[in-house]
Amino acid sequence: MREARKALHGHGASDVHSGATNVKMAHIPVVIAGGGIAGMAVALSLINRGIACLIIEPEITLNARIGETIPPSATSLLARCGIDHLLIDPAHLPCYGNQFVWGSSKPYEKSFFSQINPHGWHLDRPFFEKQLRTHCVSRGIEWLPGHRITHIDQHLDGWHISLDGGGNIAGKVSCSFLVDATGRQARIARMLGRKRRRLDALIGISTQLTTDGTAVPHYTYIEAVANGWWYAAPLANKRLSVVYMTDNDLIDKELTSTSHFLRCARETSLISDIIKRNLSANAEETTLRPASTTALDEQTGDRWLAVGDAAYAFDPISSYGIMSALEGGYYAGHAIADTLAGSTEALTAYDVIISQAFAIYLKMHSEQYAAERRWEAMPFWGRRRIR
Ligand SMILES: Cc1cc2nc3c(=O)[nH]c(=O)nc-3n(C[C@H](O)[C@H](O)[C@H](O)COP(=O)(O)OP(=O)(O)OC[C@H]3O[C@@H](n4cnc5c(N)ncnc54)[C@H](O)[C@@H]3O)c2cc1C
Repeated sequence: MREARKALHGHGASDVHSGATNVKMAHIPVVIAGGGIAGMAVALSLINRGIACLIIEPEITLNARIGETIPPSATSLLARCGIDHLLIDPAHLPCYGNQFVWGSSKPYEKSFFSQINPHGWHLDRPFFEKQLRTHCVSRGIEWLPGHRITHIDQHLDGWHISLDGGGNIAGKVSCSFLVDATGRQARIARMLGRKRRRLDALIGISTQLTTDGTAVPHYTYIEAVANGWWYAAPLANKRLSVVYMTDNDLIDKELTSTSHFLRCARETSLISDIIKRNLSANAEETTLRPASTTALDEQTGDRWLAVGDAAYAFDPISSYGIMSALEGGYYAGHAIADTLAGSTEALTAYDVIISQAFAIYLKMHSEQYAAERRWEAMPFWGRRRIR
C-alpha cells in the first residue's frame, strides 16, 4: 500500500519519460486491475514466484457478492494456491452433493461421496473474499482500493497507467505486465479493443433468506422450470441463498419484488419444499445479475492477459466460475513470471489451458441443458438446444 500511495503522489518513484514531459511514476512489475478472486489468485501465484504486484480495485468495502458453491475438486485447487486453510472456518459449510429436479418431475441426487474430496463447499462468499484479501496483504501484496484505471498507454517496456481515486485524487503507475481481472466488464481488454462474445442472455435474480433454523441438509438444490431454473444453497448462520435463472428478455419484471419472487419459488416442488421447512423466513431484497456464458475474442496479448470472468464467464449451472478464477489465476501468475523471465511461449500455454477448460465446459453445458426435454418448445430451453 505504501508504494502505491507513493505512486499517487509521485514520491520515491523512478523516472519514466512519457513524450516531451518528464513524469515521475512508480514502477511495479505487474499491475492487476480487479481485486476479485481471479485478481487475488494471480497476485498469490506471482508472489510465490517472487514477483511484486499491485492490485487496483474500485471498491473500498466489499459489496455483496453472489455465487457460493464450489465442487469437491476445489479443495485440492485451494491447497495448490496455498489457501485451503481459509476453508477451516464455520462460515463455510460442506456441501455433500446436488439434488435435482431436472429432466423429469422426480427428484434425484448426485452425491460427492465417491470423490477423492468427499464434499464441496457452500462458501460465505463476502467473508471468503475478505479472508483472501487479508491473506494477500499478509503475503506482501500491495492493494490500492478506491481507484479505477482510466487510461493505459503501451510502451516498449510495458504500460503507463492513469488512475482515478475519485474527487481530486489521481495518479500514475507504470508496469511491465498488465492483468485484466475486472470480471464480466473486461475493462482493460475492452480498452485494448478486444470484443466480448455473449453466447446467451442468462441473468440471475437472487435473495438470501434468514430461516427459522430448521436444518436444511447440506446439498445444492436445482430445479428446472418452464422459463429457466432455480437453485437454493444453505449457508452458515441459518441463511439460505435462493436464485432464479432465466433469460433477460423472459424475466417477469415483478420478480424484483421479494414477495413475488418467494411466491414463484413456492410454486416449484424441490425448492418450495426447502423454503417451506423455514416458514418464518425473512428475505433480503432481490438483486439481478448477468450470468451469461461469454468469451473474449483474445485472452492474451503483448504484455497483458485476461483472467477469470474477464476472459471467460460461465453459466452458474456449472459451479465453475470460482474454480476458473482460482485456476486461471494460478496459471496466469506462472505464465506472467515466465514471460517476464523471457519465455515467448508461456502466454500461449496459458491460453491453451483456459481455452481447453472453456471447450470442456461448453460440452458439459450442452449435455446438461439437453437432459431437460419437458419444455423444448419454450424459448429458454429451445435456444439452448439450437446452440
Ligand atoms: C447469479 C450467479 C450465481 C453464481 N453462482 C456461482 C456458484 O455457485 N459457483 C461458482 O463457482 N460461481 C458462481 N458464479 C460465478 C462467480 O461468482 C464468478 O465467476 C466469479 O466471481 C469470477 O471472479 P472474478 O474475480 O473473475 O470476477 P469478479 O468477482 O466479478 O471480480 C472482479 C473485480 O474487478 C473489480 N473491477 C470492476 N471494474 C474494474 C475496473 N474498471 N478496474 C479495476 N477493477 C475493477 C470489481 O470491483 C471486482 O472486485 C455465479 C454468478 C452469478 C451471476
